Amino acid sequence: MRPSPVPEDRLLVLLYHNVGPSPGHRGLAAHWTAPEMLRAQLRWLRTLGHSFVDAEWVKDRAAQATKTPPLPSSLAREWRGGSRPTLVTFDDGQANLYSYALPVLEQEGVPALVFMVAGRIGGLTDWEAPSRWRSNPLLTWEQMREMQQRGVTFGSHTLSHPRLTDLPEEQWRRELAQSKLLLEEGLGRPVDTLAYPYGAFSPEIGQVALEMGYRLCFSTLPGLNTPDTDPAALRRMNVRRHGGLWLFRRKVGRMARIG
Ligand SMILES: [Zn+2]
Repeated sequence: MRPSPVPEDRLLVLLYHNVGPSPGHRGLAAHWTAPEMLRAQLRWLRTLGHSFVDAEWVKDRAAQATKTPPLPSSLAREWRGGSRPTLVTFDDGQANLYSYALPVLEQEGVPALVFMVAGRIGGLTDWEAPSRWRSNPLLTWEQMREMQQRGVTFGSHTLSHPRLTDLPEEQWRRELAQSKLLLEEGLGRPVDTLAYPYGAFSPEIGQVALEMGYRLCFSTLPGLNTPDTDPAALRRMNVRRHGGLWLFRRKVGRMARIG
């Protein structure tokens, strides 16, 4: 087996949406991963020397890094204590994660971070135009509390899944603040991670999110992360269904080339 193209000291963050049998519709199917494909991808990474970490691990290492004096910019600081640390994230929090992703994650011993649309919990994915996509059920509070017991951490994907950069400041501030509060009340734990819907953010939005107490904010910018990566603009690899494991492998290689 060839070694992973990812350097040992880089953090790879995977972005998934749905896990389950494909819904058939071609455009929609791109955001679905079959449970066996999820398992195959996780196992492939592990075989190549990736270690799966949770959000706490990333926060701890990032906090340590900010306490040590910065190195020359050509020498990015290393994530210590994990070789090719890899964080698995899911956006939107659809109900299929409970039925199909959770068993795979548990069996493989992989922690996960799921970003919830806080104002839609127990509802439907009604933020997309109904003519384009079928609405899907979202996780309920009960399912989320059980998943929390079984190794899943939850973060905010805002209140209503808007493109934050299209909103006036007052509204995007509310999306960030209220979603955090709602999730903390419902889960009984601090919520300090955020994923921007559609990956849309600005330097100002990122700065305000950090001021509000978010410690890790995930974009959809491709690439890998170091402890020096802006915590308001962490990079992720968007996993898509087409191409299966072959495309997944190619994409990991592309993230490594971006750095
Ligand atoms: Zn989303």
